[in-house]
Amino acid sequence: MKTRFAPSPTGFLHIGSVRTALFSWLLARHFNGTFILRIEDTDRQRSKPEYTELILETLKWLKIDWDGAVEYQSRRLDRYQEVIDDLVSRGLAYYCDCSVERLENLRAEQMAQGFPQPRYDEHCRNLNLTKGPGRVVRLKISPDMDLSFNDLIHGYQERSGADYDDWVIQRSDGDPTYNFAVVVDDYDMDITHVIRGDDHLNNTPRQVALYKTLNWPMPVFGHIPMILDEAGARLSKRSGSANILQYREQGFLPHAILNALVRLGWSHGDVELFTREEMIKAFDGTGLQRSPACFNTDKFYWIAKHWMQHSSDLLEYAQSEKWTDQPDLFQKQLFLAQDRIKSLLELKE
Ligand code: GLU
Repeated sequence: MKTRFAPSPTGFLHIGSVRTALFSWLLARHFNGTFILRIEDTDRQRSKPEYTELILETLKWLKIDWDGAVEYQSRRLDRYQEVIDDLVSRGLAYYCDCSVERLENLRAEQMAQGFPQPRYDEHCRNLNLTKGPGRVVRLKISPDMDLSFNDLIHGYQERSGADYDDWVIQRSDGDPTYNFAVVVDDYDMDITHVIRGDDHLNNTPRQVALYKTLNWPMPVFGHIPMILDEAGARLSKRSGSANILQYREQGFLPHAILNALVRLGWSHGDVELFTREEMIKAFDGTGLQRSPACFNTDKFYWIAKHWMQHSSDLLEYAQSEKWTDQPDLFQKQLFLAQDRIKSLLELKE
C-alpha cells in the first residue's frame, strides 16, 4: 500500500484538500504502508513557493506526516521529457502545431453542429512533425480503446476511447500537463492507491489511456465526493474552505479538524469521535460514501468542544503554539472553563 497527496501549490489548503490528504494518509497508516507528499508545481504561472510552504506548514500542524523527502514535479522535467520522447519515437504520440485560432474555430464549428463535447480533429496526427516552437505533443487515442476502470467509491466506470480525443501531454512551453505528469509520477513512485476528489473522475480515463499505451500497471482509484456547506452549495471561502490555518489562529485543536473531516464522506457505524489511533484503526477503505458530504459548523464546534475537554496534551500544545507561557495559570483557567469552550481563543477570552 503506497498512497500520496499531490497538491498543486496554487493556493492555501482548504477543507476539501485536507480531507483528501487525511484519507490518503489514513489508508496508508492503517495498512502500515507508505504515504508520500508530492508537490505538483508544473503550472509555472500559478504555482508559488509561498503556497508550498503553507501546505507543508498546514500538514505539519495537523500531524499528517509523510514518508521520505517531499517530491517536486518541477524537479522531474527530464523524466517527463524522456517518456514523451519515447512515446513520439514509437509513434504513440505526435507533435501538433495547430494554432490557437484554428482550435477555436474548430471548437466553434463543432458546437454549432451540436457536438456534445468539442474534440481535436487529429489534423496533425500523421504529419510527422518534429519538435519546434509553439508545438504541443498529443497522445493518440483510438476509438476502440477501453478506458474503463474500477473506482473504490463509484464502482465500475465504463469509458471508451471513442469519447476522448488526442489530448495534449506536453504544452508548447515544454511543461507536461497534469494528466500526463500524474501518471508518470504515480507509476515511478509505485503508488498503489490514488485517492483524490471526484472532480478528477473525468480526467481518469485520459490517465487510463496513458497507462495502457505505456503498458504500465494501473493503481486503484478512489474518487471522494466533494464537500458542501450547510446550504448544499460547494464550500465557499465564507463557509470555511479558505486557508485551513485560520482555524489554528482561532485556537482550534488540529485533531478537532481531522475528526470533523474524517466523517465527511466516510462512516464507521455511528461513531463520531475518534482519537488519532482510533481513526487509523478504523479506516480500512470501506465505509466510503459516494454522495457529497456536508460540512456542518455546529457539529464541528461540538467535536472541537469534546477535544478541548479530552485532550491530554492540551498544555503542551498551548505552549508550543504560544497561547500560554504560564502553565499553572493555564491549568486553572482550563479547569474552570473547559466544559464551555471549543477553542484556545475562547479560553483566552
Ligand atoms: N494536483 C492535483 C490536484 O491538486 C492532484 C490530483 C491527483 O491527486 O491526481 O487536484
